[in-house]
Amino acid sequence: MPFRALVQSTVHIYESVMKIKRQRILITGRVQGVGFRPAVYRIARTLGLCGFVCNDTKGVTLELQGEEEKIAEFLVRLRSDDKPPLAEIKSCEAVDLAVIDGEDEFIIKASDSEGTALSQVTADIATCRDCLAEMADKKDFRYGYPFINCTNCGPRYSIVKTIPYDRPNTTMSAFAMCERCAAQYSDVTDRRFHAQPVACSACGPKISLTDNKGKTIETQTDKVIAETARLLLDGKVVAIKGLGGFHLAVDALNNEAVERLRERKRRDHKPFAMMADSIAKIKEYAIVSRLAEKVLKSPQSPIVLLPKKKNSSIAPSAASGVDTFGFMLCYAPLHFLLFEQNIKVLVMTSGNISDEPLICENEQALQKLGDIADGFLMHDREIYRRVDDSIVHFVDGEPALLRRARSYVPTPILVEEACSQDIFAAGGDLKNTFCFAKQNQLICSEHIGDLEDAEVYHHYINSIEHLQKLFEVEPKVIVCDLHPGYLSTQYALSLPDVRVMQVQHHWAHIGSVLVEHGLVGPVIGLACDGTGYGTDRAIWGCECLIASLSDFERFGHLAYYSLAGSDKASKEAIRPLLGLLKKTYGNNFKLEEFSWLLESIEPDIKKQHVISEQLDKRINTVETSSLGRVFDAVAAMIGLGNYNHFEAQLPMALEAIAAVDVEDRYELELFSPPGEPYQFGLRETVRQLVSDVQSEVDAGTISAKFHNTISEILLGFAVVCRSETDLNAVVLSGGVFCNRYLTNRLVKLLKEEGFRVLFNQDFPSNDGGLSVGQAAIAANLVKCKP
Ligand SMILES: [Zn+2]
Ligand SMILES: [Zn+2]
Repeated sequence: MPFRALVQSTVHIYESVMKIKRQRILITGRVQGVGFRPAVYRIARTLGLCGFVCNDTKGVTLELQGEEEKIAEFLVRLRSDDKPPLAEIKSCEAVDLAVIDGEDEFIIKASDSEGTALSQVTADIATCRDCLAEMADKKDFRYGYPFINCTNCGPRYSIVKTIPYDRPNTTMSAFAMCERCAAQYSDVTDRRFHAQPVACSACGPKISLTDNKGKTIETQTDKVIAETARLLLDGKVVAIKGLGGFHLAVDALNNEAVERLRERKRRDHKPFAMMADSIAKIKEYAIVSRLAEKVLKSPQSPIVLLPKKKNSSIAPSAASGVDTFGFMLCYAPLHFLLFEQNIKVLVMTSGNISDEPLICENEQALQKLGDIADGFLMHDREIYRRVDDSIVHFVDGEPALLRRARSYVPTPILVEEACSQDIFAAGGDLKNTFCFAKQNQLICSEHIGDLEDAEVYHHYINSIEHLQKLFEVEPKVIVCDLHPGYLSTQYALSLPDVRVMQVQHHWAHIGSVLVEHGLVGPVIGLACDGTGYGTDRAIWGCECLIASLSDFERFGHLAYYSLAGSDKASKEAIRPLLGLLKKTYGNNFKLEEFSWLLESIEPDIKKQHVISEQLDKRINTVETSSLGRVFDAVAAMIGLGNYNHFEAQLPMALEAIAAVDVEDRYELELFSPPGEPYQFGLRETVRQLVSDVQSEVDAGTISAKFHNTISEILLGFAVVCRSETDLNAVVLSGGVFCNRYLTNRLVKLLKEEGFRVLFNQDFPSNDGGLSVGQAAIAANLVKCKP
């Protein structure tokens, strides 16, 4: 045997006797900013392993050296409860390395300097069990402390001013740590190791209660809590400063109090979110499935839409016109302390005036909410980023975000291929979010709001500037909607020295699903919503696209009808209704013959005539395939209202009453005009609807038949498209798919036909998901045409 081989085999024998091994392990998933490296450190030290751990662009890399069995045990423990609660391991790859002689310790190394690490800033997280236990423990020095937190919970994103994510760069810089807190902060074996917001009653933020003029009522923590609870149980409205902004709170079992809040908030119709401190309490009012329970109790602690229980004692005015309650569990220590005072369930709605941004500053709260709230429970920890509560519902038995904000932002989506240039996606004008693409991350902002409100627009611009710095992005490629009237489009087009791309609205919707599921397409894309500017300048809204991240083709759409009065068309149901009636009956349509139907929808006969004339003469009208507006018209026909006081109010009311056991539907027409996309027409549907309403068919039945008709149209598009393209994956996106009755039915029908069905889960299917779709499409186009 040659000498070298002999040495190697000797080494091999030696190692197998001692079982000494060295491995490099690359771990991906949610492993940064969640206390992963200290956890690795603790486990490695306990097992007597040497080596190091560090963050890099893909996740966490570690090298371990020691007995083979101990390395194996390390890997088991890393996936067990020893792993930090917020960590999620997606992949774990190990390669063997040569053993390094003389290494005798395990260290946390500074991050890999080649390339930026993943975003250091993580999301705000609901108070963990360990902290709750300490808060309830009279012997603990944080007993009853309303700002208790640790590496596994507490504020993050909402308090960061700049990076690196260290205490001096957060709003906690105002508080110097006491000795006890500092000792925990610097002890790598402690649960609070490098927990930037660590604090206690001796050194940290404090709460106080004031009246609506800002006059102090109480400052001693336990008295503040007790007095706040007394006010609430007394039917008073209290503004409570939380993690991401103010809530307006009121006893949800007191209808008079809830109505008073509604009146003062000038928000007549939108359902209010509610909070309770246990699943058992929520179950008194709503149906909580196992999955819903899991989401409610998750570290993100979102608002979850749950089916209402009949005859519950919740104030009727808390959530009328919908069949669900939006519930969340307490998620900040202050909430838990408050609920200990015999409070059962609170309305906890965003502290703002109508559609303005959430309020997060004490002075501003007193000024703006002084007429709404009777008392103010405030604290002196500044909220730097306002973040609304996130909202989750269930589609086809899976959780799906309807509003992505607190605790989900700024977690990025990781894409396979890194972007060669930084990208900024401006989003849309309604339910705006924006998104950055940088290297292999897409970082989407929290829900910003509707940009038509001046304050929201101002917040949009400031947020873009702030997050651009926070994530160190320098976008040279800008992507926005095709709509020339969108403020987001105008903003994007105004930016100097950049390459601008405009992406069609419904294509971006489909793109958002593709990127979420790690696909590039092509797929059959069904995009349905209220308004999206089309390439032919019509307003699209019920579309079948053959779409990928690099291209799309319009395969089919709902036949156009005319819509009069651009701004008002999405609010007043009479407008789409008249457009649809005229399309259906053509020249035979006479307003007088429909007075029985129209009178209650638009009592002003003169106005009916004006709209009718507008449609005839095509003055200020657009051609549209909007599906959202058809829902408005049908809701109005069966007496559910005539005006959308908030987006999709009428469609939601229509969904809420749909009878569950109806399989009937209305007739459809499919056209295939040469050289044009396929079109489904609604003339037969409208005729039959009118006849059902006239013969006083039950509203729940009409609603179900209408929903079934729309599912049939969408299924029809998919079937025809598959027969011509061989594509078998169907992607659903757009605001209409927030409708659970429709989406669940359609998904079922599609699956029965053998389609693979994909929809939004991590991002909203409404316009809140638009920016991530735009960013994904732009990233792909930049790759193709750098
Ligand atoms: Zn904790
Ligand atoms: Zn302290």
